[in-house]
Amino acid sequence: MSAESGFVKILNFIDGQFCEPVSGNYCDNINPSTGAVYSQWAQSNENDVELAVNASKKAFPRWKSLSNGQRSKILHRWADLIDENLERLAVAESIDNGKPISVSKAVDIPRSSKNLRFFADYILEIEPEIFEMPGEAMNYIERDPLGVVVAISPWNLPLYLFTWKVAPALAFGNTVVAKPSEVTPMTAFLLAELSLQAGVPPGVFNVVHGTGQDVGQALVTHPDVKAVTFTGSTQTGRIIAKQVSPLFKKLSLEMGGKNPNIVFADCDFESAISTTMRSSFANQGQICLCGSRVYVESSIYEKFKAELVNRTKNLVQGDPLSLDTEQGAVVSKTHFEKILGCIDQAKKDGGKIIIGGEPFNGAGENASGFFIQPTIIENLSQSCAGNQQEIFGPVITICPFVSEDQVIEWANGTEYGLAGSVWTADIEKARRVAKQLESGIVWINTWMLRDLRTPFGGMKNSGVGREGGQSAYHFFTEPKTVCVKLGGQNV
Ligand code: NAD
Repeated sequence: MSAESGFVKILNFIDGQFCEPVSGNYCDNINPSTGAVYSQWAQSNENDVELAVNASKKAFPRWKSLSNGQRSKILHRWADLIDENLERLAVAESIDNGKPISVSKAVDIPRSSKNLRFFADYILEIEPEIFEMPGEAMNYIERDPLGVVVAISPWNLPLYLFTWKVAPALAFGNTVVAKPSEVTPMTAFLLAELSLQAGVPPGVFNVVHGTGQDVGQALVTHPDVKAVTFTGSTQTGRIIAKQVSPLFKKLSLEMGGKNPNIVFADCDFESAISTTMRSSFANQGQICLCGSRVYVESSIYEKFKAELVNRTKNLVQGDPLSLDTEQGAVVSKTHFEKILGCIDQAKKDGGKIIIGGEPFNGAGENASGFFIQPTIIENLSQSCAGNQQEIFGPVITICPFVSEDQVIEWANGTEYGLAGSVWTADIEKARRVAKQLESGIVWINTWMLRDLRTPFGGMKNSGVGREGGQSAYHFFTEPKTVCVKLGGQNV
């Protein structure tokens, strides 16, 4: 199967086989950098969900009974295959999503194999959990896999976030039915092909394509599904929470953000500015961790702003498949219109567009693509939509601050609490600010640096639960405490 060349049908993957959707219907898949239909995805529904959950349920006892070493080997093989197919997967990701090929090659695809490798290694190093009651008893904790787990992922880092869920679920012995975003289904489809080569047994890993309404909803409410791991918008997370909570399934929600990037005057200017360029515009600003509100201490505000504008002007925008491109297309026409609507609203709210603010006209076949100029807005009040709502595009606001207390209040003044950055040479100040930020992660003098052992997730409306390392181990297993009385009968 050469999925990315020619007009491909993106099929479901159930019980180790690619299959047509039960409905027989397909939806167009659009290349956002050209606006052209280039493939079609299976428009699945609850019937496909039923087949996938049944296959997953059937495969569970055998997969669970494998040793951690056996599962680890399979996951490593899968990771190797991702690495061997880096070029092919990166091209597919960039066509499907609109992101620059340099980003797919350096970030998305390598991180996908790293996700598998990380959990393949993690399961080999799990320490027994023992709690002794001297002279009386000892307790040990058994952690068993849950069964069928549903993984639902978004379009911004398609394979990266898809594997971030699938890898731990499988490593800890669960079987999975996964639904990638219908906006970017291609690399999940290709990953299924690689799972066969890696020797993942039939039914252990299943992929059902389709919309949230047709497939997502049927998956999260299915009685045989034991846990749901979701990454996407807060709006969808809220719907899922409402449906899943009364069913008492385990639920992990990774949702939206409106992250502050706080720059103090005593920062390393070059490091702060170059990283702010990345944290503002990487992946066209479509990373949940992007710093979309930039707060700069007033004494360096004008200098920082001027340099940021200068560098933004020089960003190379255009064909995602060109190696020089730094800014590709945003993911879809709907999203393109949403972002432009947010920029318009900011203008109405008194925001001053200091650079960008318009669609970007691509050349040749990119003329019909969904490109937006990287945009910086100043002069917006903290309560405006532009400083409160997630835009999730190449759009940041910038604002001077005069005191630590003021910037902390502003930083915390949204419904979100996913990530934040603090730039200063004063480590005591940095730690003081970090302590007060309502945020799942705070970076000091860096951004997007991740140790996969650490808990990852959001506070407030950015998330419920944590992923990564031990948090994932705890989420994807059910603990059982076994208490053994020492020296004979209990009294
Ligand atoms: P989305 O919520 O529209 O969709 C996410 C996934 O949920 C898709 O697969 C979609 O089909 C599915 N879905 C939609 N409705 C559903 C329903 N009723 N039941 C079950 N599934 C349903 O989000 P998106 O637009 O794909 O992604 C962008 C959002 O994701 C942004 O808000 C971004 O901040 C967030 N995000 C968060 C993180 C994080 O780690 N916190 C990471 C990446 C993206």
